[in-house]
Amino acid sequence: MTALIYSDEYMKHNTGNHPENQERLNVIVNSLKNKEIWNKIDVISPEPATEDDLLRVHSPSHIEYIKKFCDSGGGYIDYDTFAAPESYEIAKLAAGGAIKAADFVLKNSENAYSIARPPGHHATREKSMGFCIFNNLAIALEYLRNTHKIKKFLIFDFDVHFGNGTSEIFYSDPDVLYISIHQNPRTLYPGKGFIEEIGTGKGEGYNLNIPMPERSTTDDYIYILEKILEPAASKFNADFYFLDVGFDGHVDDPLSSMALTDKYYEYIINKMKNIAGFMSLILEGGYNLDVLSRCNVKIINALNNIKNEDYYKNELNVSENTKDTFNKIKDVFSPFYGF
Ligand SMILES: [Zn+2]
Repeated sequence: MTALIYSDEYMKHNTGNHPENQERLNVIVNSLKNKEIWNKIDVISPEPATEDDLLRVHSPSHIEYIKKFCDSGGGYIDYDTFAAPESYEIAKLAAGGAIKAADFVLKNSENAYSIARPPGHHATREKSMGFCIFNNLAIALEYLRNTHKIKKFLIFDFDVHFGNGTSEIFYSDPDVLYISIHQNPRTLYPGKGFIEEIGTGKGEGYNLNIPMPERSTTDDYIYILEKILEPAASKFNADFYFLDVGFDGHVDDPLSSMALTDKYYEYIINKMKNIAGFMSLILEGGYNLDVLSRCNVKIINALNNIKNEDYYKNELNVSENTKDTFNKIKDVFSPFYGF
């Protein structure tokens, strides 16, 4: 049975009327309850990540800074990242949620989805940014590597923003293949995530960015992901899979200029299930509440083997810009993955 890792405690990361606010998780939980999906999944409470868990990813000074910042009342850490007095504790709980999901996948050979906040993929070793305090996914990965001796990890991140924190943390690591599809960084935060950022040293070739043109559709995404995901995954041959989930590439999302439809979320779950078998899913962004409510139902249904659409039935309507993007990726990554 699919597991959902969730706690009401996440509401205590009180960001007021910030786009990344409590209502996001409320609407997800309510939609799963209304559609009677809540009783068809295993809902599990997370436990906070320990200091050792955090220290495998973050510097002691970063952890100490956040703790003191929250103890002294919180506020804006930077232009767009808010912390409440409780946020240090709740950020540890969000990281613990990612660990719990990873553990569940390992022990049960089932999928597990951590819906936590604050999100994590912009947080670097040294700093919080982009609504993120600690890097939940990286903390779960290092936990698996340290505690369960798992060797090779594939991360696929489809939040509309490039996950600069996750990318940077594993940038020289040949055992972590980070693939991110996101909006062209020239027109979206955080301004990084170009094709040429391929990793460094032994990690060269293990950071694969797919920067998509503005207004890319579900067809554009399917076209390019069909050409990249499977060949890269099969060459890399990971022992464990993370799916970093964002709903902010949806056409109705206020923070991006992309044009994904609800169908994409079902497609990507089925695609990743074919590739990975089982995976750990981690919630990042998504700021339209209706989209969060509808598309999370799509995700859980797809995890529970309910399939509605045939994605390959009609010919894909693909933009020339998307084809160009693939050709550029092909030029750079053919030596590594034979695209
Ligand atoms: Zn995002």
